[in-house]
Amino acid sequence: MKKIGLFDIDGVIADTGKAMIDIVQNDLNKKWVSVEDIVEYDVTKLSWLNNHEIEHLLTKFCQPEFYYYIPPMPYAAEVTDILRQKGWEIILVTARPPFLYDITLYWLKKYSIHFNSLISSRPEEKINYCVNNDKCFLVEDRGDLLLQIEEKMPQMKLFIYDQPWNRRINIGKRIKTLKEIVEVLGI
Ligand SMILES: [Mg+2]
Repeated sequence: MKKIGLFDIDGVIADTGKAMIDIVQNDLNKKWVSVEDIVEYDVTKLSWLNNHEIEHLLTKFCQPEFYYYIPPMPYAAEVTDILRQKGWEIILVTARPPFLYDITLYWLKKYSIHFNSLISSRPEEKINYCVNNDKCFLVEDRGDLLLQIEEKMPQMKLFIYDQPWNRRINIGKRIKTLKEIVEVLGI
């Protein structure tokens, strides 16, 4: 049976929260804000941003340069390398729109992230790449999406990458670093 590891990118492989906070601190001059203050997945719901600031951030999120400067999550290169060596097929499934595909590919190579395929998918379509057995796992930071997937794919292993915007949701195995995946899988 094929072993498949599905990884989301933003908030899992890429430290997108950190990149967003860099903009908030430097462009919006809110030096006191940290990643811990991103308590909503949807930035338009963050109480510490006004409409003008939200617009500034949303504009940045549409620019390929933003994605160029995102730092990788710790152990992303090492863990994907180990999994590939142990026979896991790694599929990166991201909700980033297709116009960000090239910069994403460039970024993944730059940081030596190992993978078999990179798929741009709408969030609700991520489930199409899941397989309902214990030889398939998904790592995701979006809690609502994991809840939907768990309902339809109860056999799959689900990892929720701990982020301030998903702490209210109790689902799957909560991990604070990607290294924990290797431990849970017993590799
Ligand atoms: Mg994400």
